[in-house]
Amino acid sequence: MAARDADGEGMGPLGPPEPAAAPDGSSLAWSSLRREVETCTRCPLHRSRTHAVFYRGGARPRLVVVGEAPGAEEDRRGLPFVGRAGRRLDTALAALGLSEEEVGILNVLKCRPPGNRFVPAAARSCRPYLDRQLAILDPPRLVSLGARALAALDPGAPPILRCAGQPRRALGRPLFPLVHPAAIRSRALARRWQDDLAALGSWLDGPSDGTAREPL
Ligand code: SF4
Repeated sequence: MAARDADGEGMGPLGPPEPAAAPDGSSLAWSSLRREVETCTRCPLHRSRTHAVFYRGGARPRLVVVGEAPGAEEDRRGLPFVGRAGRRLDTALAALGLSEEEVGILNVLKCRPPGNRFVPAAARSCRPYLDRQLAILDPPRLVSLGARALAALDPGAPPILRCAGQPRRALGRPLFPLVHPAAIRSRALARRWQDDLAALGSWLDGPSDGTAREPL
């Protein structure tokens, strides 16, 4: 599945990357990790990036949303999910009553792949950053967006359209997979997105281990 926002379509004025909050009590480790990512040359994607895209969200999120890779707008601004798909995501999260501080948003790949084609080898090089981000943020729950993010968190998961909207566990945490908001290009998928978001709301209101959910 394609992993990103439309390339700058309908975007607002551009500006310098905004600083993300540093998690309390781990701010040194977070700031250091952020600098590492922003100057990383571990894989060839660093050559074509404008900005590495590290994180957007609260210092102690109750939910971390994991996407696949930055798109053009994200690359320009150095922030994840700030294009069209990001607006769809933000609208959905706000409708669930989640504030910006309660959510963290990041990607498996920190640098935009040319042509928006996900690069598995780059994801392997980039993986330690994802693990270190999750270790510092220590979120009670995870949401994955799209097949690549789901596979990164839970390599044994069924195909995304089979398990989106169904709570799982991955990396020792409750995980709720969703289809990627950039992939919603049909009425059927738009309905699926809304149904899955309703299920996400129930899951968020459910037990803290995140596993129980009322049947739809
Ligand atoms: S994609 Fe990840 S590993 Fe590759 S240069 Fe960017 S930060 Fe480094």
